[in-house]
Amino acid sequence: MEKQFAKELIEFIHESPTNFHAVANAKQELISHGFKQLFSGEAWHIEKGGKYFVTKNHSSLYAFEIGSGDIANGMKFICAHSDSPTFRIKPNAEMPTAGKYLKLNTEVYGGPIMYTWFDRPLSMAGRVMLRSLNPLKPATHFVNFDRPMMVIPHIAIHFNRAVNDQGNPLSKQKDMLPVIAMINETFEKDNYLLNLVAKEMNVKPEDILDFDLTLYEYEKGCIFGANEEFISCGKLDDLAMVHAGLKAFINSQANAKTKVLAIFDNEEVGSGTKQGAGSPILRTIVERIVFGLGGSQEDLYRAIHNSFMISADMAHALHPNYVEKHDPTNHPVINGGPVIKFNANQKYITDGDSAAVFATICNMAGVPYQKFVNHSDMAGGSTLGNILLSQMEMRGVDIGNPMWAMHSVRETGGVMDHAYVIKAFTMFYNI
Ligand code: ZN
Repeated sequence: MEKQFAKELIEFIHESPTNFHAVANAKQELISHGFKQLFSGEAWHIEKGGKYFVTKNHSSLYAFEIGSGDIANGMKFICAHSDSPTFRIKPNAEMPTAGKYLKLNTEVYGGPIMYTWFDRPLSMAGRVMLRSLNPLKPATHFVNFDRPMMVIPHIAIHFNRAVNDQGNPLSKQKDMLPVIAMINETFEKDNYLLNLVAKEMNVKPEDILDFDLTLYEYEKGCIFGANEEFISCGKLDDLAMVHAGLKAFINSQANAKTKVLAIFDNEEVGSGTKQGAGSPILRTIVERIVFGLGGSQEDLYRAIHNSFMISADMAHALHPNYVEKHDPTNHPVINGGPVIKFNANQKYITDGDSAAVFATICNMAGVPYQKFVNHSDMAGGSTLGNILLSQMEMRGVDIGNPMWAMHSVRETGGVMDHAYVIKAFTMFYNI
């Protein structure tokens, strides 16, 4: 059973090469379970027991199932993010080199471990905007080349003998550009990429107005280890939490409290976009739910105050080769269960109160849990929780599954952990 969840996760990530695809797949899953899509620009008619979702920019998604009880008693939120570090293809990307090779000009998105992107077959996918009758609203389409298309070749060791020494720097502009083709006699440099995309989509090049295309590792994830205990896959941060949240959201029972699943975009670049956690979108949705059910302003304040949020973003497991980088007394390990994240300076929203709630949920679900704090001399990361709770004063906890190599093109997580967190999330929605 545990392995089945891990296999489903690998499949979900394979089908989700970009944030757009992840949201489209989540949307499909919701529709097939009877959820109805609402649109922000239209009037909402919501009722108790109703199952709804809304998307923003095709890259973030907010699903909610209205509970049978009084909305002022609060809601239950699980939040995660759809985006992962990658390389975005720049406008006018074609860069012929030495008259023989065609490179693509790219820009780094977020904080990838760039070394891990070398010498692997890469593909590209994303969103393509096509001409439509409404000048303010081009038609949105998605494309996924879904085959090996390019490589970022590393320099041979003979040209850089210091390559294995620490502190060997990489230039994002020089070292990281992928090669997509050899230039031959029939090669047409003008609009090469545009024509390629048009051909792939079976549309006319002149109908393509613009696109958001990013690279991804072509090879699919896998389960590995002598006892098949590990998951090797790209984008575990944070699609593992998206997948677990979605699974729990759909499989949990209808409840007295309203259940919410929020999948934000742009966490990797600070969340400050219209589809990111820094925007007022989640609060707006909460208001529309409360007022849509006939609640008052007073009910809204009570609903927010009485709610609880799980901010779910992956966590660092103790690294076997760098034990000294971790906190001396807190050592979360892979397959030891979900990790509650603490930070004295409140980069995480967890406090004793909210940690106690999550620990109780894990106990009720029969799932182990662990605790993470940074080594006090390390800066550590941040996530969605405190950005969201600074807009809505509800209680909340930051958690995530333990993993190695966060932001590598190929990260490692635990088979058991994925099953554990799905169980814990399901319990949270059910209580
Ligand atoms: Zn993350």
